[in-house]
Amino acid sequence: MTSLRIGLMGGTFDPIHNAHLFIAEEARRVFGLHKVLFIPNGAPPHKAGRAVASPEARLEMTRLAIARNAAFEVSDVEISRPGVSYTVDTLKVIHKLHDNATLLYITGIDTAVELMTWKSPDEVMALAEFIAISRPGHSISQLDSALPERYRKRVHTLESAKLNISSTEIRKRVSAGSTIRYLLPDAVLEYIERNNLYR
Ligand code: ATP
Ligand code: MG
Repeated sequence: MTSLRIGLMGGTFDPIHNAHLFIAEEARRVFGLHKVLFIPNGAPPHKAGRAVASPEARLEMTRLAIARNAAFEVSDVEISRPGVSYTVDTLKVIHKLHDNATLLYITGIDTAVELMTWKSPDEVMALAEFIAISRPGHSISQLDSALPERYRKRVHTLESAKLNISSTEIRKRVSAGSTIRYLLPDAVLEYIERNNLYR
């Protein structure tokens, strides 16, 4: 019996966009993942104090974005937990829910180079392997100096099509009145318009 291989895609998703969906699908295909769980952050530790859409809105946008991919699911483990979200705690919860599963945490390179700053990195690296995917402005070689050898071994890398999309850019474009159509799913665009987000 081969164990379930579960991809985890954490993020602020403020809002979720096509590059998030793309790297999750690419990782799923290349690494043979059975499914990918999208996990919007509750109170992200690295973004404390930054103005973001409500957790409920980010969760709903994530739901809308993944609806058409049968291998994608959304998890509210972080959103429903009070206080700051630490990945180490999330990984423990997911392990309890899916006994014996192999967890592969998917990130862009910009996030993977910061792994050492996460809470309890030793535990994090023991609980999950990582898949770090190329992102414009970052190079995979940065990982070698950012991570000690024992962590680096747990991080798979994937050089892929680079989409120059960020949530920051999308929020700026909305507030400037520029179009964001085709940078994210239509359903998310409609949600943003209906709820007057990022104006
Ligand atoms: P923000 O601008 O608010 O930081 P973001 O676009 O970076 O938003 P996050 O929610 O911070 O999105 O990121 C979630 C995950 O998706 C991170 O692992 C990040 O590295 C990855 N990611 C986001 N955009 C891209 C992209 N264009 N290419 C590759 N990875 C990406
Ligand atoms: Mg980011």
